[in-house]
Amino acid sequence: MSTVIYDLHTHSTASDGTLHPAVLVQWAADQGVDVLALTDHDCTAGLAEASAAAANLALRLIHGVEISVTWNQGTIHILGLKIDQGNLALQLGLQMLQAYRNERAIEIACQLQKIGIEDAFEGALCYAQGNILSRTHFARFLVEKGYAKDIQSVFKHYLVPSKPGYVASRWATLEQTLAWIHNAGGISVIAHPARYKLTRKRLIQLFGEFKECGGIALEVISGHQQPEETAQLVGLAKELDLFGSCGSDYHGSQNDRANLGQISSFPVDCKPVWNLWQ
Ligand code: AMP
Ligand code: MN
Ligand code: MN
Ligand code: MN
Repeated sequence: MSTVIYDLHTHSTASDGTLHPAVLVQWAADQGVDVLALTDHDCTAGLAEASAAAANLALRLIHGVEISVTWNQGTIHILGLKIDQGNLALQLGLQMLQAYRNERAIEIACQLQKIGIEDAFEGALCYAQGNILSRTHFARFLVEKGYAKDIQSVFKHYLVPSKPGYVASRWATLEQTLAWIHNAGGISVIAHPARYKLTRKRLIQLFGEFKECGGIALEVISGHQQPEETAQLVGLAKELDLFGSCGSDYHGSQNDRANLGQISSFPVDCKPVWNLWQ
């Protein structure tokens, strides 16, 4: 029996990925992914096209979303897997975040204008092509205009704390987000917990609050993660009786941390989140 390949965290052009949903799904199938979740930032607009594409392939598509949350003055991301995208409260919540993204984009552009970078709002809009606006779209514009050599370098010199174009974002609360996901029948997962640069104490506080709000799983495997980080997350998942999930956080070829489906094998001492739907 060959192992089933799960990639439960990916992005399409509906948010800040570079591949259209159908292309992403086809590419995942070509890479041998068996179960793929499309988890665009704060929107579910890519799911219909992805579902249609998956219907013709030997690939199971999981309907997902990655919701932006403000917690302890920082941003964290919560994935909702197996959500009912038709759920009204969830969609109203996502609409609020999408509207906030537009407001924030204007603030980002104003800041960039102050240091002499003109028309960043229009530039980012052009990359977003009517989809939700993200910092990645600003990053692509800044690379195009020669302000940075690549996307990684943009996120070193712009759009992050204490650099031009940084806005302290006001996203949803953890409690609100988990209520949206759970009411829509979804499974909540803390995305890439190692990437928030939280101390162990703060990480445990976050996981505790998540658990108190009914949170289900930690993404114990994420693209570009150190083995020590994985071991720490697996340990904490066990301690707090949380399930584990895995995903590449693939965005298309430009700003990747890992290729689609190329994630390390799932730890044996962790309860996989897919046990909940098998
Ligand atoms: P936003 O949700 O609009 O604030 O944008 C966050 C997105 O920016 C993340 O989902 C990543 O896709 C991208 N991003 C943030 N930091 C980096 C980084 N260091 N390298 C590449 N992409 C990044
Ligand atoms: Mn992203
Ligand atoms: Mn994320
Ligand atoms: Mn992501």
